[in-house]
Amino acid sequence: MTSRRQFCFASTAFALSGCVANATPRYAVTHTVAEWHERLTPAQYRILRDAGTEAPWSSPLLAEHQPGRFACAGCDTTAFDSSTKFESGTGWPSFYRALPGAVEERLDTSFGVERTAISCAACGGHLGHVFDDGPAPTGLRYCMNGIALTFHPAEGSSS
Ligand SMILES: [Zn+2]
Repeated sequence: MTSRRQFCFASTAFALSGCVANATPRYAVTHTVAEWHERLTPAQYRILRDAGTEAPWSSPLLAEHQPGRFACAGCDTTAFDSSTKFESGTGWPSFYRALPGAVEERLDTSFGVERTAISCAACGGHLGHVFDDGPAPTGLRYCMNGIALTFHPAEGSSS
């Protein structure tokens, strides 16, 4: 319908969050709500599938400094490399770059604030937000929920 199309394209926010989300499933990894509840802990579900935010300073991954990769806790797709992790002082695991094609951005206007939400490109799980006050070389700060990530140490790195 014309009016619906116009409505979708008139607003970037709605085009990104409403219309696209209601389209045919496009993720490589898809599960029903019940299946996600089975696979995830309640806390993980609240973040990954319900776009929640964990309490700051609550994630053990804040203190994770080994070489390795951080994967989406929902589907185990690698999203960040440990070499891009930095101490942001925010209480959330922070990275200055996501791995190519691993995450997707979406305008998030919740709480009356415009932010850019970051989700897993493979399963659509909410991971966190990205801000433009990060360090060189990108100037970006991927502010992630640690509970939405799983750390995999690099092979042979644990000496
Ligand atoms: Zn995922």
